[in-house]
Amino acid sequence: MAERAGLQALNSLRLRASATLLRTPDTQAGLRDVLDEARSLQLPVVVLGEGSNVVLAGDLDALVLRYRGLGREIISEGSEHVGLRVAAGENWHALTVWALDQGFYGLENLALIPGTVGAAPIQNIGAYGVELSEFIDCVEVVDIDSGSMHRLSAAACAFGYRDSIFKGALRDRCVITAVEMTLRRSEQPNLSYAALADYVKADGHEVTASEVHQAVVELRRARLPDPSLMPNVGSFFKNPVVTSAQAEALMKENPSMPVFRLADGSTKIPAAWLIEACGWKGYTQSGVGVHGGHALVLINQGSNSGSAVLDLAGRIQQSVRRRFGCKLEIEPRIYGAAA
Ligand SMILES: Cc1cc2nc3c(=O)[nH]c(=O)nc-3n(C[C@H](O)[C@H](O)[C@H](O)COP(=O)(O)OP(=O)(O)OC[C@H]3O[C@@H](n4cnc5c(N)ncnc54)[C@H](O)[C@@H]3O)c2cc1C
Repeated sequence: MAERAGLQALNSLRLRASATLLRTPDTQAGLRDVLDEARSLQLPVVVLGEGSNVVLAGDLDALVLRYRGLGREIISEGSEHVGLRVAAGENWHALTVWALDQGFYGLENLALIPGTVGAAPIQNIGAYGVELSEFIDCVEVVDIDSGSMHRLSAAACAFGYRDSIFKGALRDRCVITAVEMTLRRSEQPNLSYAALADYVKADGHEVTASEVHQAVVELRRARLPDPSLMPNVGSFFKNPVVTSAQAEALMKENPSMPVFRLADGSTKIPAAWLIEACGWKGYTQSGVGVHGGHALVLINQGSNSGSAVLDLAGRIQQSVRRRFGCKLEIEPRIYGAAA
């Protein structure tokens, strides 16, 4: 078989890994041909977008497929709303900029999240008080085994906090080829996230969607390291959700611990606070580290090794569990030998 394909430039942690084959179809017909090829070679298919939420822990004996189909289409229009169909290969942030320029509102708070439109439903991307699931009508997928196309309604996608059916029953079973969503025609800035509200409302004037978009970009640039300068995958761990009884006990022992009460009575605790409290912020070992400005972000400082990243992650998980009894779950998907 031909030379293996390098993946280091295709993941934002810049981890060194290779795949048996790499294919980048940009049409649905091309995608079906690639799926046929994988089937005939009996290779598993691993779908990759821009690689900003994966840890490549080793080489992949697989056909890595990056679907590059492009296009943004208006499929319905009303006085209040507009329906869009966006192909999976589009860049997410570019979509938020384009939507704002068109006067289509809602995606402002999700500005600057790296990655493709096709990957966005996988973990129901969210930031600054908004989740993608608020806008999705339907997700178009192609089944990896049969090559058949299906449209899943938002309800069928079973969206949750950083979660969807694509991480559960449909994990590794389909390629997302397009996302249909409804955006607003009127500006209704969402300032439910306190830090964002504080930032934009500084002089008390009425805030526009454009200002929210710009504020989110500025806040993110100030808080998160740029993966092209300091390789990372954003938040490495999900925020743990505990019962209210657990939260009460933890708060008694740690009065300064911030908590977010959820509608179902449970409590979300910021993983960054737990990690920082365990003394990990700014820690470095074997060419990987915890970012000095944001304890939730692990950075590749030259090790280029997925197992080195996972070793450090494991030590952090262990210390948080020992001290607080909370389980930290890794957010990015792990691929490769050591997974
Ligand atoms: C600096 C930084 C900040 C971040 N901030 C946020 C944030 O605020 N909120 C947030 O939610 N996330 C955040 N992330 C995570 C990441 O941006 C999102 O998860 C994004 O959706 C990943 O897109 P991607 O194209 O890079 O996907 P990849 O990392 O390539 O893939 C992620 C997963 O999706 C699957 N996948 C990708 N494309 C498809 C497809 N077309 N069909 C089927 N499966 C597919 C892959 O198989 C993989 O399992 C951040 C990441 C970084 C590096």
